[in-house]
Amino acid sequence: TQLLANKTAIITGAASPRGLGKATATLFAEHGARVVILDLDASQAQAAAADLPGTGHIGCACDVTDRTACLSVIKELIGTLGQIDVLVNNAGITQPLKLMEIAPENYDAVLDVNLRGTLYMSQALIPHMREHARGSIVNMSSVSAQRGGGIFGGPHYSAAKAGILGLTKAMARELAPAGIRANAICPGFIDTDITAGKLTPEMRQSVLDGIPMGRAGTAADVAGCALFLASDLSAYVTGSEVDVNGGSLIH
Ligand code: NAD
Repeated sequence: TQLLANKTAIITGAASPRGLGKATATLFAEHGARVVILDLDASQAQAAAADLPGTGHIGCACDVTDRTACLSVIKELIGTLGQIDVLVNNAGITQPLKLMEIAPENYDAVLDVNLRGTLYMSQALIPHMREHARGSIVNMSSVSAQRGGGIFGGPHYSAAKAGILGLTKAMARELAPAGIRANAICPGFIDTDITAGKLTPEMRQSVLDGIPMGRAGTAADVAGCALFLASDLSAYVTGSEVDVNGGSLIH
């Protein structure tokens, strides 16, 4: 069965070819959704949308840290598409810094994309979801939020992703009466390009040593969880944080 038939989903940061957003977009499209990919570069977003199974998918430029850009792209999409059912706030960046290395510009960059972007994009879409009295918002947090890093991102990344957990739960509480659900995914160590070549073989091995399943996750592993949270399979799930980490956090 197609779990997202006749549904429309917006996924931010989904142009990265090996990323969690693109894998989520692909699985959603396989499940019958019309998918909108938002990312920094219009042509990359369009190329990623064209690469999805099926037709009718859209790619647009949108910097999620730009409130005006979020509002205008959502307004345009509602005009073109009618109802939008799902938002996946996936855009994120990370930096492997230690506490004392975090400069103001590092703090701003990491907090802005991960946390501010999640707020702005949600604020842009919530009035529409309220009108239709339905919607599912899925936010990408991280195991780094739960255990204070220890994988790749620095303390500012942990703080941003922990902020996403608080924001998600507060959103879930406030929006539940309106029929809108909000949940967070906490991926562990997933093989994507977010580490931008800065993950050394030694770092990689020490992370793998801490994973009971003994392997890195795949983008598809995270996409499966996003599909569950986006679809009616999770109709009574809101304000939750779902671990996708190979057992990294068993305690
Ligand atoms: P990725 O680098 O492959 O993809 C991130 C995408 O976000 C890129 O396409 C990038 O262009 C886009 N982006 C960056 N800034 C943006 C902005 N201001 N506006 C719009 N788009 C922007 O990374 P990924 O590994 O696929 O990560 C996806 C999400 O999952 C991120 O939020 C990341 O923090 C989170 N995450 C990843 C891992 C992992 O191990 N890969 C683990 C936990 C959480």
